[in-house]
Amino acid sequence: MRKMFEMASKLKDPVDLSLGAPDFDVPDVVKKAAISAILAGRNRYVPTVGIPELRTKVAEKLKKKNNILVDDSCLIITSAVSGGLSIVLTTILNNGDEVILFDPYFVGYKQLILQNGGIPVYAKTKEDFSPDILDFESKITKRTKAVIINSPNNPTGKIYSAADLKNIASIAEKNGLLVISDEIYEDFCFEKTHFSIGSVYENTVTLNGFSKSCGMPGWRVGYVCAPKRIIDECVKVQQYNFVCAPSPFQYAALKALDFDTSSITQEYKRKRNIIYEGLGKKYSFSKPEGAFYAFIKYPYDGKKFIQDCVEKNLLVVPASVFSQHDTHFRISFATSENVLKKAVAILNTLIS
Ligand code: PLP
Repeated sequence: MRKMFEMASKLKDPVDLSLGAPDFDVPDVVKKAAISAILAGRNRYVPTVGIPELRTKVAEKLKKKNNILVDDSCLIITSAVSGGLSIVLTTILNNGDEVILFDPYFVGYKQLILQNGGIPVYAKTKEDFSPDILDFESKITKRTKAVIINSPNNPTGKIYSAADLKNIASIAEKNGLLVISDEIYEDFCFEKTHFSIGSVYENTVTLNGFSKSCGMPGWRVGYVCAPKRIIDECVKVQQYNFVCAPSPFQYAALKALDFDTSSITQEYKRKRNIIYEGLGKKYSFSKPEGAFYAFIKYPYDGKKFIQDCVEKNLLVVPASVFSQHDTHFRISFATSENVLKKAVAILNTLIS
């Protein structure tokens, strides 16, 4: 990813489909809430678990939207989802513990597992990027501590079905595994509805935040919901690492929870269609159902393809960032329709 950013900085006006951030700004009402909090002097440390108003409101949201019934003691406000993942993996992993990931996976998981002495183990996904349940079950050993789920998915745009998630939950239960469910793209669903595995399996750590759904990746606010015994340990880890999530933005997050993303989701669905209809004839890929990514098979040698894209001023991300197999490239369609149309035109010139 860093190499892509470096290359991007050298290109003049690149057609950039490499970034994983939404292209809309923080809504005004949320900005005003942050400014008011700063002006009111809410700039000091707050409790490590987060401000009480936000924990209560997140608990209400989880109940209403995700069917996860918890009280505040099962919640910690974190420095976005990355901060949440970091404290959760530090909390649960001992050296040599294995964590199963479905390949392809979000790049941060592998690195954070390794950083915490764990061993990433890769389970397959099918041609349409749904989880291969039999392969998952076959990868469980005595050392397996957890499985990480990410739906809607980065980098594939797949939304896991409720049936697949229930199967994963029952296998996890049979084997005493923790499920870690990263739901950061839950608001970006085009084809199916989002299902939270934490609504059917108690031993689940659910992570979410505001970086994508409220266009505020720079404000670093998210949350972790888990059984109280896990949260109690996460609090200790957060205390010595982040101390607390940024205080004024926790107040802003109270407003961010009320933000209705449905019109943005519709806009991203139109953008998804531009990509799918524009590239579907020449390129082979599964229609993204959510998030804002498409994961597309290289039409010829991957290294040569990425170089050809750069020569045409187009930035995409190679699969090697997200997978043990360098067979695909990822594009993000969280950008203007104009940029997407230019990208489609360039990509179509690369294959005759
Ligand atoms: N999880 C997934 C699946 C992501 O795609 C990202 C960012 O791209 C993150 C977590 C990190 O998000 P945050 O900005 O909330 O740390």
